[in-house]
Amino acid sequence: MLDRFLRYVQIPTEPDPTTTTTPSSSDQWTLLRMLQEELTELGVDVTLTEHGYVIATIPSNVPHPVPRIAFLAHVDTALDFTGKGVKPIVHERYDGAAFRYPHAANRVLAVDEFPALQHAIGQTIVTTSGDTLLGADDKAGVAIVMTFVEYVLAHPELPHGELRVCFNPDEEIGRGFDGLETSRLAADVAYTVDGDALGSLNYETFSADKARVTITGVSIHPGWAFGKLVNAIGLAEQLLHIIRTKCPAPEQSQGRCGYVHPVRIDGSAGKVVIDFILRDFDDIGLASYGTVLRQACDALKEQEPRAEIECVVEEQYRNMRDYLAKDFRPVEVAREAMARIGVSPIESPIRGGTDGSHLTARGLPTPNLFTGGQNAHGPYEWVSVDEMEKSVLVCAQIVQIYAGQVVPGTKR
Ligand SMILES: [Zn+2]
Repeated sequence: MLDRFLRYVQIPTEPDPTTTTTPSSSDQWTLLRMLQEELTELGVDVTLTEHGYVIATIPSNVPHPVPRIAFLAHVDTALDFTGKGVKPIVHERYDGAAFRYPHAANRVLAVDEFPALQHAIGQTIVTTSGDTLLGADDKAGVAIVMTFVEYVLAHPELPHGELRVCFNPDEEIGRGFDGLETSRLAADVAYTVDGDALGSLNYETFSADKARVTITGVSIHPGWAFGKLVNAIGLAEQLLHIIRTKCPAPEQSQGRCGYVHPVRIDGSAGKVVIDFILRDFDDIGLASYGTVLRQACDALKEQEPRAEIECVVEEQYRNMRDYLAKDFRPVEVAREAMARIGVSPIESPIRGGTDGSHLTARGLPTPNLFTGGQNAHGPYEWVSVDEMEKSVLVCAQIVQIYAGQVVPGTKR
């Protein structure tokens, strides 16, 4: 598994949000093709779709119908920090001493600053060399799922139903399953292997909307502006002030609190466009942020009828908890799987979305399992290989638990 992981992280797979294709960047094809070849070598039935989804199937080895389970991991890396030229460093039996990165003299990985390292003392960990991210998010997941496939094939005595494996592009730009019909996965339950520390089990994410406010003022030469100019920038300033006083901003928000976040502003005195993202764990809370934004626009419009103010709110994704509430078994099975290998689940809501948020909303329940990766999206990213191994074992337990359940009327 470590060899696989080291091989995968050295292949650059940054997505490109400026394109409309899937995969968004040609770089991702290199790893996707490599994974297709590796699965073929393992003797597994595998397809690489025209949109860059590697889908493999392992047939059932039990006589009774069992839910079909898919394990998913994304090949792309975050854009927050460069993922090109990754030179992973393996620390066998990590001793907890502060580590000075060879390619960034001012960066140190130390237990004081990152207390999670304390739990990794004595384990094998992998870090960056300091000037790139590591890409354990989510190549740790890819290596875990590949190793799981190998493990299942090497242990035919381990009972399981039909299993699906899928490696996808473009998670980091929120387009992870845009290029694949859920029916193509033909699974009853899925798990993304894209979480962080040992035991993390995520089945709650934000519900998310985005909004665009377009303010059109009345432009005129400032020399003749008296009583005539309607400055869109001034109106934008007022709008942002209202939003700031009525809704929490991300930098003021933690735990279960949501936020309204102006992410981009563009324009001139004549016209300003502001993009917002709206987040909350609760759909009613999220809707109320949309209402505040619309009401603020209406109030401005009333105050300045010569301006045109348009506000469009659009859905992005929804908290998967509300969908899982109808059938919580996928989460219960993951808990049981962890308990069987002595791992205590850490169930925390994600202040973001996952591929699972989209898939769950599309009818495929998809909680998220841990990888052992930490400090994702930057140079301090590291992963525990010992925890990656535990993640493989959790996947193996999940399929055995499902295989023990005879489910009448399972979708076939
Ligand atoms: Zn990820």
